[in-house]
Amino acid sequence: MQSTPGPERHESLSPDQRVPSEQDLDTLSRQLGRPVRDVVEIGARCVCGNPLVATTAPRLSSGIPFPTTFYLTHPVITSAISRLEAAGLMQEMTDRLAADPVLAAAYRAAHEDYLAARDAIGARTGVGPVPEIAGVSAGGMPERVKCLHVLAGHSLAAGPGVNPLGDEALAGIAEWWTADRCYCSGAWDTEGDAPDRDRSRHVKTQEMQDPEAKKRARAEARARREAGE
Ligand SMILES: [Zn+2]
Repeated sequence: MQSTPGPERHESLSPDQRVPSEQDLDTLSRQLGRPVRDVVEIGARCVCGNPLVATTAPRLSSGIPFPTTFYLTHPVITSAISRLEAAGLMQEMTDRLAADPVLAAAYRAAHEDYLAARDAIGARTGVGPVPEIAGVSAGGMPERVKCLHVLAGHSLAAGPGVNPLGDEALAGIAEWWTADRCYCSGAWDTEGDAPDRDRSRHVKTQEMQDPEAKKRARAEARARREAGE
């Protein structure tokens, strides 16, 4: 099938590198401290290969439209970006966008890249178009800055030179994280079960109200026993 013509879009990883392995999904759950859902690709990786960005389908398996495609997961980067947010960088960037037409145009182009990347992900993962979020990107784009994590996640997934404010946020955390080095050691809990393993225990009360969920939980427990867990 011929690819659909559209705005130019950018990806830092090759198609092979984007495919999430079981280990990647396990690592993502550990990085976030909760089970990951609907992750269809890895948007960016550490030099060691671990995920930095989870790429989520534009429509969740529950049917809910999901505009935030690139989600920053690496704890070292997320906490460093939080420091920039706490220091007031988002308001400062939003003010600059209003005053600087060149920056505003580049940021609008980043918004378009985000939408094109999300459409492409929807197409290649079989999700298809999601009209509910057409034209809606994330992080405050194209006119404001509401979440630096979103912008940095986009910059990591797209590569440098696509999202000027995401690039700036990454440059701003250079004393804590840089792309050329691995900061994974000790950054998340690698002992014991990943968070998705014991999920059924945490949500038991809620799920038990639904007879179908009860059946699923019993089948899951049986499968675990048979797997010798
Ligand atoms: Zn690493």
